[in-house]
Amino acid sequence: MRASILVVNAGSSSVKFSLFDQQDAADPGLRYKGQVEGIHVEPRFTAKSADGGLLADEAMPADVPNSHDGALRHILAWLERHTGGAKPAVIGHRVVHGGRRFSRPERITPEVIAELERLVPLAPLHAPHNITPIRILAELLPDVPQVACFDTAFHAEQPELHQLYALPYDFSQREGIRRYGFHGLSYEYIASVLPQIDPQAAQGRTVVAHLGNGASMAALQGGRGIASTMGFTALEGLPMGTRTGSIDAGVVLHLLNHLKMDARGIEQLLYKQSGLLGLSGVSSDMRELHASQDARAKLAIDYFVSKIAREAASLATTLGGMDALVFTAGIGENDAVVRREVCRLLGWLGVALDQDANDARSGQPRRVSLPGSRVAVHVIPTNEELVIARHALKCAVR
Ligand code: AMP
Repeated sequence: MRASILVVNAGSSSVKFSLFDQQDAADPGLRYKGQVEGIHVEPRFTAKSADGGLLADEAMPADVPNSHDGALRHILAWLERHTGGAKPAVIGHRVVHGGRRFSRPERITPEVIAELERLVPLAPLHAPHNITPIRILAELLPDVPQVACFDTAFHAEQPELHQLYALPYDFSQREGIRRYGFHGLSYEYIASVLPQIDPQAAQGRTVVAHLGNGASMAALQGGRGIASTMGFTALEGLPMGTRTGSIDAGVVLHLLNHLKMDARGIEQLLYKQSGLLGLSGVSSDMRELHASQDARAKLAIDYFVSKIAREAASLATTLGGMDALVFTAGIGENDAVVRREVCRLLGWLGVALDQDANDARSGQPRRVSLPGSRVAVHVIPTNEELVIARHALKCAVR
């Protein structure tokens, strides 16, 4: 029997979905993917087939509530029409923060939902949007098991040294104020395919750069997470589309005490108005920065590149060397200029890029370093949805 797995990834203004089919012991195969984006503003629904063919691209009907609830119901109705009314066998959710409690995927129960609610303060801008669809689907499809897959879980085994902040030790023990790391589903995917792509690196020391609208990097030793640039929240580390990345905590105190900004204003500043957008004044979108003639657009790109190279060197030190550097996510997979400039800055570490391979366009995993490069450089498209689908299936039958 063909079982289908629905994967839901809900953010602040979008609900993304993928529907996978599984027929045998092989990996689930993608059937449809799509999203409602622009929720609360001008919501738009798009859906594609597995080969990327556009199946729907339309403004949301006016009679559908402009909310996450409305978006999800619209997606379910579309799926119902396209699957002849078949219900999914299981639903997997991307959940941004698992705190200390969840270090592996979890079958959702009322008790798990209550615990997720308790974790909201750790990711106040993201976590509530993850919980909403879980509640709605529990109501709409009460017989279908749901599984939460956490972006923090991959990092849970990091050595304590790399999980701590140099606050009084009690803060990590009592309050859970420690480095969790994020984008774990993406790192898990890369770690799962690396043995076929570069067996030596898979067993050795790899630095992965997940460069999307959110951006982070992780150090992998033998496929396990050792350290990452994101910490207690998804704000630390690299600058991002609209997030600062690491910033002197003293700046926050100054904003509070001297500029008299309140917590909400500071939150908006750090999460929504900074990063590539804040530096450039042009856009949070890397493609628009490249297209811009504005000197500050170039400054923003240079800043981004310089921080990636610094973090790569820092993570390589943590690993005691670097056998491979992997680029993934929207910018990492598509932006040859960012990759070239990062690799140029890392030349002293033995990174030698093959310019032609780097410039070639392909949606496939590929090596872009020269044969003699001391560090192998790979571009590997990530697939967080597949990781969620795999976990959802496994967890549901457990
Ligand atoms: P993600 O969050 O992984 O979807 O990545 C979004 C980021 O990838 C945005 O900054 C996009 O501008 C960037 N991106 C997507 N395609 C390209 C491209 N062809 N060249 C440069 N950046 C791209």
